[in-house]
Amino acid sequence: MDLHILIETAKKARENAYTPYSNYKVGCALLTKSGKVFSGCNIENDGLMSICAERVAFTKAISEGEKDFECILVLGGKEELQYTSPCGYCRQFMSEFCDKNFEIYMYYGNDKIDKKTLEELLPNNFSL
Ligand SMILES: [Zn+2]
Repeated sequence: MDLHILIETAKKARENAYTPYSNYKVGCALLTKSGKVFSGCNIENDGLMSICAERVAFTKAISEGEKDFECILVLGGKEELQYTSPCGYCRQFMSEFCDKNFEIYMYYGNDKIDKKTLEELLPNNFSL
């Protein structure tokens, strides 16, 4: 999979971010092992029930029957893109559905991209 497709998908999703409180807009693109791409953006709420772009993408995919995930690309920032990595809640959420080698790309501008595995971002995840 060409990362540019994921970057463009995430950028497009970010345009739909609903962020009247933080103005921090995030978009992401989740690639399944079957080759499908699901996008997500963050959606805020004035209660405590905002949802991050990553969990939007995962819940869209899972609700459509997807269970095997290859990687996710995340980008975000207030105006310009800045380095944005998944929050702790999303890391734990991902660990329910992805193995430790799941790849997380953080894109923050022209040729600026970082890649981590889920294990690197969430060592010793909680597990029952
Ligand atoms: Zn999150």
